[in-house]
Amino acid sequence: MELACLDLEGVLVPEIWIAFAEKTGIEELRATTRDIPDYDVLMRQRLALLDQHNLTIDDIQAVISTLSPLPGAVDFINWLRERFQVIILSDTFYEFSQPLMRELGWPTLFCHRLITDEKGRVVDYKLRQKDPKRASVQALHSLNYRVIAAGDSYNDTTMLAEAEVGILFHAPDNVIAEFPQFRAVHNFPDLKQAFIDASDRPLTL
Ligand SMILES: [Mg+2]
Repeated sequence: MELACLDLEGVLVPEIWIAFAEKTGIEELRATTRDIPDYDVLMRQRLALLDQHNLTIDDIQAVISTLSPLPGAVDFINWLRERFQVIILSDTFYEFSQPLMRELGWPTLFCHRLITDEKGRVVDYKLRQKDPKRASVQALHSLNYRVIAAGDSYNDTTMLAEAEVGILFHAPDNVIAEFPQFRAVHNFPDLKQAFIDASDRPLTL
């Protein structure tokens, strides 16, 4: 039994906070864990900015619904779902990713939650668990699945290591150099081939 696990941002869709910052023109929302390594501090800053700009969850989703999946991503996930059970393991939030998940045809997504009040203000966030991508692959192993995983960045590497086969997709050079044990591919045709090669079934393009 085989499962495909995919990261979301940087693989199927753009980095959502950065794209959201560009759409709204709120420069400070471009900050990532590279700028503010403490994730809680970063998220508190993001929530404060949303509040400061009077953005409710509806406004946020309206902006995000103007974003599109990366070119070729819809075709890729449809291709993959014909050949594998697919689960997306992401550090995004359900409420934030919803408009883009619609465009991807609502594949199964394991991620985190934003907490909103009755007026739609985003007041808090809830991480599902610690090291969620690795923990998910471990849980899938306990269900006797063989896991092939693909992701683009540091937050994917424990998932890639835990999987039977880990693939880097669209990864920056420093990540590729630091994790030479993972095959690195840069476009969807090569990612399809990497999944075929990783499978223990005789799949074809
Ligand atoms: Mg990513």
